[in-house]
Amino acid sequence: MKPKRLESELQDVGTFSHPKQNLEQYATTPALATKVLHLAAVEFGDIEDKSVIDLGVGTGVLAIGAKLMGAGHVLGLDVDMDALSECKENLEMYEPELEVELVLMDVIELIRRYDDYDEQESDESDDDDDDDNNNGDGKRKDYVWPKADTVVTNPPFGTRRKGADVAFLAAAMKMADTAVYSFHKTSTREYIQKVATKKLGAKSAKVVAEMKYGLKNQYGHHRKDEVEVFVDVWRIEPTCKMKRDGNNDEDEIFEQNLRDLAANIEELQLSARERKDKHRSSKNSNNTSNTSNRR
Ligand code: SAH
Repeated sequence: MKPKRLESELQDVGTFSHPKQNLEQYATTPALATKVLHLAAVEFGDIEDKSVIDLGVGTGVLAIGAKLMGAGHVLGLDVDMDALSECKENLEMYEPELEVELVLMDVIELIRRYDDYDEQESDESDDDDDDDNNNGDGKRKDYVWPKADTVVTNPPFGTRRKGADVAFLAAAMKMADTAVYSFHKTSTREYIQKVATKKLGAKSAKVVAEMKYGLKNQYGHHRKDEVEVFVDVWRIEPTCKMKRDGNNDEDEIFEQNLRDLAANIEELQLSARERKDKHRSSKNSNNTSNTSNRR
């Protein structure tokens, strides 16, 4: 699919109707999503017929774009049920409906619990986990990570929750067989280079695109209406391919993990819709102005 067509297909993807500041919910614009996905697909062959995970899928613009560019299985993970619910609505908008598997998952919690990644910046202690299967540091080693050829992520930049950007990157590198595409503030370039190669052991880490990101004042804590943020798009190759080929036990645990996490998704989705309806009706009765940021 040509970039112009992809961008126009993504125009109608709804963005967060009630963005949550603590989760740093900023939707990627159709123009930026197109730029990144086209690059990943055409320049590097990382999308077409590849499995893709969108980490922090939000309302789904990157996952949807990947699917439209010919990706195989696409899995979207997010900690916010409202976002997943809006993502589902966006998928249903296409004819036929786009198939993206959605799973509720706290990526930061996951990396904190199951990886040997050392969350330097965090002062949270991890002594609540006294499971046997750990290294004595409270971190379990038996977690089977969701896997895909390619991981794309527009992660929280770590402005609200320190270290969120690196936690996402660490998780993305656990999940990707071939490549991670991750957005980071240009001001953190040297740091990300160091973290990716030295700390997380990337085989390579390169900035493949630079973008100017116009952040609309959707939260009111910015003084200006729109703040410009310079963002790098990284392509990172994780060290070793950890394909789950031939290992049935691991496959089974992996499937079970996904099933457990997805078990209540429909129920949760319903309750998210109810919450949204309630929110709408209370807003209408208060007669407040429309704050929807749908494009
Ligand atoms: N991928 C979307 C959204 C990017 S905003 C897009 O490009 O438009 C970042 C997303 O990360 C939000 O959807 C937010 O809910 C999600 N997020 C924040 N913290 C998270 C966590 N701990 N685990 C999983 N998702 C998280």
